[in-house]
Amino acid sequence: MKSWAGLIKKTRQVFGGLPDARKGKNTSCSMEDFATSAWSVFFTQSPSFLACQKTMQQNKGRRNAQTLLEMEEIPCENQTRETLDPVAPEQMFPLYDEGVESFKEQGMLESYRGVNGTIAIALDGTWYHSSEKIHCANCCCIEHSNGKKTYYHSAITPVIVAPGHPHAIALRPEFIVPQDGHPKQDCETAAGKRWIDKNSLRYAPLKATLLGEDIYAHQPTCRRARLNGFHFIFVCKPDSHIGLYQGGTCSSPVRACTSSLNASRTARSSNPTLTALPTGCHWPPRRMRSRSTGAN
Ligand SMILES: [Zn+2]
Repeated sequence: MKSWAGLIKKTRQVFGGLPDARKGKNTSCSMEDFATSAWSVFFTQSPSFLACQKTMQQNKGRRNAQTLLEMEEIPCENQTRETLDPVAPEQMFPLYDEGVESFKEQGMLESYRGVNGTIAIALDGTWYHSSEKIHCANCCCIEHSNGKKTYYHSAITPVIVAPGHPHAIALRPEFIVPQDGHPKQDCETAAGKRWIDKNSLRYAPLKATLLGEDIYAHQPTCRRARLNGFHFIFVCKPDSHIGLYQGGTCSSPVRACTSSLNASRTARSSNPTLTALPTGCHWPPRRMRSRSTGAN
């Protein structure tokens, strides 16, 4: 895939394979057109999906939709929502792989390599829906002290980034949703662990370093990253890692505990967590070493 036409063709192929839950006669518009219609919002710079749909209904927008995006019909907003709502987000994941593959094919991924030739993958959570009224079974919920509740949907949306590169390359996300068999609410750290487990075979061979906020800088996540072939650089704040700063030698106020980028060559023990840390940075902190450090 080395052209816009190739990208559109591949994208519409994936859209064409989406499950179609419609019943009855009203199925003239194809799944390709419904999904392309929703996807087009990224190209029109429209402030909303509705504004995008209105633009496409106008003459010039219609021409663009047909020539640029190869759409045959432009479905209305409600039809698009109703048809795409039952489609699981995972059905779109092959598109992320296509994006990475095309960067690879064209040699552009190499320009994202940084320290020791590794590629940085930034893990970060983002909310994409929030309401005090509208909610569903997949919502997470914050209960406020005044009795109100905020329902929200969020996800980890990892991207390949590099200093000096204005563009990030989107990778498969991990949604933060209630998990089967887990009574507690899902959270970003748990989703981060799932993302590592699910995606290590796909992304670790890129020679990848995970970047993350302070919430990832805990032994289970660090260990999991190393066991799955990733390096990591996680922010490690003194106020949330008191033991580490008291017992270890990390004295800088916001010094990140990083994975040693050549940890495999300087492995100091069979414990992958210890081998992941640079010399002089002790994990677990001395006062915690009598406790188990097993991953969860
Ligand atoms: Zn919901």
